Amino acid sequence: MFGVDLADQKRMQYSTCRKAKKWYKYLFWFCFDLAVVNSLICMQESPNHQIKTKKGKSIKKTQLQFRMALAQQMIGGYRGSRKRKIPSVVDNCGSAHWPIQFPKPSRCKGCTKAGRRHEVSIGCRECNITLCIKHDCFYKYHKEMLE
Ligand SMILES: [Zn+2]
Ligand SMILES: [Zn+2]
Repeated sequence: MFGVDLADQKRMQYSTCRKAKKWYKYLFWFCFDLAVVNSLICMQESPNHQIKTKKGKSIKKTQLQFRMALAQQMIGGYRGSRKRKIPSVVDNCGSAHWPIQFPKPSRCKGCTKAGRRHEVSIGCRECNITLCIKHDCFYKYHKEMLE
């Protein structure tokens, strides 16, 4: 008897929980839909957001077109935020990629990559490599880092 009661109680808890979840979901989508429809109305009213036909006639976007564009923007934004981390030229510690004069000349990393043999003693303090100015390696190396 006790066992059944407990099971029943558990089931009740579970179902309320599920109901609540459903309810939140419903509310979320309701608000979402409301926002979409609202912005669609605003957009349709705005002359700047109308599609122009080949003949120059402006037509209103349909709800489907609008939703598609919105979804694409949302997905696009999500993908954009997941892009690989861009190394900063100035890192968190505040150290920057300043050029320094090394005591001994060695092959420029940029020139080596380009298949040139070029020894220089100037380089990057942060990266601890030699990079020449003559072939713009100092600039190119760090520009690549930012891309
Ligand atoms: Zn170089
Ligand atoms: Zn550097």
